[in-house]
Amino acid sequence: MPTRVLMLVAVAVALAVASLWAHPLHLLIALACLLLGLLAGRSASLARQTVPAPAEERSEAADAMASALLDATMQSMREGVIVVDGDTRIIAANRAALDLFAAGRHGLTGKRLSELTRNPAIHAAFQSALERSERAEVKVETYGSERRVFDLRVAPLQRPEPRGGALGVFFDITRLERLERVRQEFLSNVSHELRTPLTSILTFVETLEEGAIDDPQNNRRFLSVIRKNAERMRNLINDILELSAIESGNVRVEVVPVPLHVAVQDVFAALAQQATQRGIELRNEVADDVLVQADARRLEQMLTNLIDNAIKFNREGGRVTVRYERRDGRHCITVEDTGEGIAPEHLDRIFERFYRVDRARSREQGGTGLGLAIVKHLARAHGGETVAASVLGRGSAFTIELPAGGDG
Ligand code: ADP
Repeated sequence: MPTRVLMLVAVAVALAVASLWAHPLHLLIALACLLLGLLAGRSASLARQTVPAPAEERSEAADAMASALLDATMQSMREGVIVVDGDTRIIAANRAALDLFAAGRHGLTGKRLSELTRNPAIHAAFQSALERSERAEVKVETYGSERRVFDLRVAPLQRPEPRGGALGVFFDITRLERLERVRQEFLSNVSHELRTPLTSILTFVETLEEGAIDDPQNNRRFLSVIRKNAERMRNLINDILELSAIESGNVRVEVVPVPLHVAVQDVFAALAQQATQRGIELRNEVADDVLVQADARRLEQMLTNLIDNAIKFNREGGRVTVRYERRDGRHCITVEDTGEGIAPEHLDRIFERFYRVDRARSREQGGTGLGLAIVKHLARAHGGETVAASVLGRGSAFTIELPAGGDG
């Protein structure tokens, strides 16, 4: 690019980027472009001086440096940047823009905007910058192999001639949007989950206040309903806090060799009453000498959640079996039940927060819908995974797979 043109483009880009001002990075880019413009200007004035040979050399060196600087700045940006002239022909684009328009090695320079995209929002934004010298900001969605969402900001290039060109910056907000959606869904789920027991508590308190407190037949029963719902709220809040701590990486996993047979036996002992009430047999088939590499407390938590489910979703008089197997350098711990099983359309989703096959039944049994999400995240915190398999009407098997580490 001739030095004077480079100077003009660099200064124009600097002004346009500065006018977009949405991120501290913009200031940096604008400064880099300005510096580049100054360097280019200096090299242009050097080139005009009368002693030809050394000035030309210096001018070329400054030119090359300025061009390399602009290139490095543009290419290091994660945002796609394109600069168009007054006829919407692309005069500069960075690597992120090439990816965005799947331009491949032929590049974008020299192409018209209409050859790249038919998206009306993109055209309207550039036209508004070119025809009315107005900045424009639009949300753009693209549907290639996957849906992506961009915040496109277009600024007119402050060049003297009319329709002097425009600069467009594409901010990829796909991930931000998804996170926002997940956050909203989570909030609405939590509110919903809390509202149900809270409504129940308020209703029973009102009933007691309105006279039922003196009704010896029912007052204790109403109190126990209130207690049950308050406990449900406490469990829910505990699970939410636990999950958020694990997800934010605030849970330290201290891996030590844990005797698995004893760990399973301890969980069985804690859940024995629940199993006996439903006539469910608990079988520990883990050999006495098995050691797994895990955080002892977290392993117990995962086993408790899985065995508790295996009892809850079992049939009366059923069986829960825990097995161990060493497979492909992994410790595989399986909790198997003889319950109702899970249909394939639900199986993929049961690890999602608050997902339940039968919401009313899970609530009735004091479930929060977060147990499996906690197991999944704890297994991942160990560098492992949780896998579910099920045959409808016959039972389910949940396997925690943990890396065996350096123990052979
Ligand atoms: P909760 O048990 O509190 O409802 P979980 O996250 O532990 O929540 O489980 C989510 C859902 O997965 C349960 O509501 C149930 O529908 C299903 N589920 C979990 N374990 C089993 C199992 N062993 N057998 C059948 N369904 C199960």
